[in-house]
Amino acid sequence: MCTTVDSEEIIILSDDDDDDDDDKDCENDLSCLIVEVEDVKKTDCVSASTALDEDLVVTFYRRAEVLPHARFDCPVHPFTATDCQTGTPVADNQRICDQCFCYVCDKLASKCAMWCHSGVCHCNSHKRSPFWNNLRNDALLGGLQHFNLTLSEVDSHLRHAEAMLQTFRQELSARFSSFVKGNTLQEIGLSQLNAHGLVHNYTPVYEFVSSFLNKADQQDSRAAAIMHLGAAQLFLRHYQITGAFVLQTPMCNVAEAKIVLMQRVIASVQRQMVMADYTAEFLRKLQDFYKRLYFPAEFRNFRNSLCVRPWDDVLLVSVLKGQNVSGVRKDKGKKDILFEQISVVLLRTELLQRQRRYRELCRYLRVVQTNDASLLRQQQDLIPFFMCMHGDFMSGLTSLFPSVNAPASRLSPQSFLFYLHMFETATAPKLIVIQPAQLNCSDAKWEPIEGAVPLKRAELVKFALRVQRCCYAVYTDSQCWSGLLKIVSTHRGSLTALSAPSPQFLHEAGQAVNFILLDKKSSNLQIPRFFLEVYPDQALLLLVTGALGLRIRDAALSPVVPVLKTFQDNQWAVTWLCNSLSSSEERLKAFIQELTQEMESIADGGKLFPFLRSIVATLSAGTSSPLAVDGDSLLQNQLASLVAHPSSWQNCGP
Ligand SMILES: [Zn+2]
Ligand SMILES: [Zn+2]
Repeated sequence: MCTTVDSEEIIILSDDDDDDDDDKDCENDLSCLIVEVEDVKKTDCVSASTALDEDLVVTFYRRAEVLPHARFDCPVHPFTATDCQTGTPVADNQRICDQCFCYVCDKLASKCAMWCHSGVCHCNSHKRSPFWNNLRNDALLGGLQHFNLTLSEVDSHLRHAEAMLQTFRQELSARFSSFVKGNTLQEIGLSQLNAHGLVHNYTPVYEFVSSFLNKADQQDSRAAAIMHLGAAQLFLRHYQITGAFVLQTPMCNVAEAKIVLMQRVIASVQRQMVMADYTAEFLRKLQDFYKRLYFPAEFRNFRNSLCVRPWDDVLLVSVLKGQNVSGVRKDKGKKDILFEQISVVLLRTELLQRQRRYRELCRYLRVVQTNDASLLRQQQDLIPFFMCMHGDFMSGLTSLFPSVNAPASRLSPQSFLFYLHMFETATAPKLIVIQPAQLNCSDAKWEPIEGAVPLKRAELVKFALRVQRCCYAVYTDSQCWSGLLKIVSTHRGSLTALSAPSPQFLHEAGQAVNFILLDKKSSNLQIPRFFLEVYPDQALLLLVTGALGLRIRDAALSPVVPVLKTFQDNQWAVTWLCNSLSSSEERLKAFIQELTQEMESIADGGKLFPFLRSIVATLSAGTSSPLAVDGDSLLQNQLASLVAHPSSWQNCGP
């Protein structure tokens, strides 16, 4: 087209009709860089209508901006395409405008050192040639090529990682060379030994690699994995040089240092593989790279360390969704077993908790197989907790007491108190738990568990007494007794003590309580409904007190003072306890002695515990059954019939 406007002010943008490039690839398509057009107004002109010929009138024109473009797309200088001509510029290919970019180096052609360099002549490069494309990939991907990454997968984080790896490679090589060369004793300040020979100390190399891994940990998740594995590829090749003298510092030996470094790399990459949102393809590329690494003999154990299933793995998904409860899948005759390293199991446990996917976590832990049975057992012991966090206390309770190998039998006193509080309040602290010891009433703020309802008091007592039956640590622990007694020593929803029930009830309760506690036919603990009918709260306090009586008759409970203090305002229950203890005179005497000693050891015990002193006095006086009531009664009759027909027990439901 011809106008009055100087031809240099018009650009004809090359008609980039490329079909082989996706739109999303735009960032990497260097002919398509976006630039801001500044001062557009300055060059916008409204010209006087000038008739050039009859058909065309120019009323407006704008000075066009030439956008940056690859040289082969240059609107100013024609380009001649050849397949792989590198010797000399073809035709006018070396000519450039000020927006011409080198297709290989991805920078202004004027800054390309290889533009007309014989043998590598970048000016001839263009995107329709596989040769030039490969060269461009080499130049732009650098070390990332070893991971089989494509340009479309590479972002600025990965480019940065690659640049850091390159610098690392050079410096590491220099440091390893100086390790190989060794130092004289004089050089390391041991000239007084007056001997000759070299020392080879790997420590500086180890420290250099460590500091690089530190930097890697701060990068974006994909870059971090690339840097860790890239570093491993380099340090795995290091070998030991033994000089005349051997230092005794921890990392001076190559083999030991490499193991420590490798463990760190594996831990970090495994974590990323589970926690980061990698695509299955990227994950596979990392694994492939890892498989191709050179593993010396002592590193055999590391070989499968990165066999981490992606989250969308068919077997893993079907287990999480509850469609597969065996953890085994048959695929075209091949058996796929859900086996994962314990470190991966721990990571999944962590992530699924963060995502509050508790049910899926329980399903996973029930079927996964791993290389460390005892650590897996610890994870599985947390299933009741996870069920509770899911809001399902009943399933939580059930999974605490399976008929064999009950997690309840391995509770620590702290975790027992944790469960007790959780069941009582339907709250829990915000915790990511990966071992049972973390279940303790820490300072963390307790928050309501979505969908959970506090257990009824009778259920709470049953839970506690059942744990005491199967778990010696809880049975013997005085804090656990105090914790339970505190719950049953007040009226529901208030802090006031319980009024004393009728003497007859107190009398009959002794038999009922013994019957409930000593019936061990069922692993479950049954509280007959009638027992809770008249004095529901008092009955439960007596049940726990009765259990405490049996515990004290069994062996000394120390410290016992805090336990008795929880009775503070329910003296009638203490009197009842004394009665139950009086059946074994010898044990009662010993108990009085233990109690007296413990009170004497507490500073100012006399003033603080008049209540307890009165207990000692009562016990010492050997008062026998002050509350005993003779004669038949409804309660006794009911009990008698129950003894005869235990199956008629109606368990008191939630
Ligand atoms: Zn140009
Ligand atoms: Zn170039």
